[in-house]
Amino acid sequence: MIPLFGADLVARIRDDIALDVEALGAKGIRPRLVVFLVGDDDSGASYRKSIVKAAERSDIEYEERFFPVSVSTAELVKAVAEQSHDPMMHGILLQTPLPPHIDANIVADAIDPSKDIDGLGSCSVGRLQLGLDCFPPATAEAVVRLAEFAEFPFRGAHAVVLGRSNIVGKPCAALLLQRNATVTICHSRTRDLWAVTQKADLVVVGVGKAEFFGKKYFRPDAFIIDVGIHVVEGRLVGDVDGSVMKFGTGRLTPVPGGVGPVTTALLMEHVVTAAKRVEMSSKVF
Ligand code: NAP
Repeated sequence: MIPLFGADLVARIRDDIALDVEALGAKGIRPRLVVFLVGDDDSGASYRKSIVKAAERSDIEYEERFFPVSVSTAELVKAVAEQSHDPMMHGILLQTPLPPHIDANIVADAIDPSKDIDGLGSCSVGRLQLGLDCFPPATAEAVVRLAEFAEFPFRGAHAVVLGRSNIVGKPCAALLLQRNATVTICHSRTRDLWAVTQKADLVVVGVGKAEFFGKKYFRPDAFIIDVGIHVVEGRLVGDVDGSVMKFGTGRLTPVPGGVGPVTTALLMEHVVTAAKRVEMSSKVF
């Protein structure tokens, strides 16, 4: 496989962001992002660090709002709604998963859809399904933008998405469908998974099982986008077994260095787009 790194696409996204941030700066506007974090669970720490770094690099004003694990849904909704109503706040991100006693859907719906930079709220979800302007979940968008960047021919191609979560599998399938791929979604109850994936031109792997998918799952010339991220014995690995890189003539996104950095860059792109829309007073949704 030929590795499909995210770095070149990230560099392009950053260049575009820099131009936009400069133009906004000339008008006295600095894009602003707020991230809501609940509890002191360390599992999202590296994701959080990458967002802080990306915001600094892009000259995006970054704020964090911390809440104890005991916070109620109502308290969180109130805090998110305050930021949604602040005309000087452009992007709102809710770090998930939230503790089980919190209704994450209600909290996500407190985010103004024009500031919902990770496409979590039901308005963003619905608009994505309708093919209307919205911010899709950044990870799902990273998958299709990476494939697009590598000139994957979506039209009529058979794309198989492994996983049906709301933040990865389902939005990914919607974005692939918009590009005229023929999409199959697989999940934990899919029978003979390998027989489905072996026929695919493009396989998006977002299952959450470290190094689970070996070469028997893929056609040798397939495009494989690995969304999985796991720490195994101190190493970062994906859902696809590392040995797959040594076989075939297709493309495979490495972990680390594939989807992850593109996801973070797209979150910043979304904040800047939201700021530009406010500046142009052309909030379309
Ligand atoms: P999730 O909510 O746990 O969903 C996993 C999905 O995989 C479910 O739909 C599940 O099916 C399906 N699944 C589980 N075992 C399977 C199997 N053996 N065969 C086929 N399907 C199976 O996970 P997620 O949030 O979508 O995340 C998936 C992975 O992406 C994780 O490794 C996560 O860390 C990573 N991730 C990466 C980024 C990034 O920016 N790179 C962002 C988010 C997540 P059921 O629905 O039937 O249970």
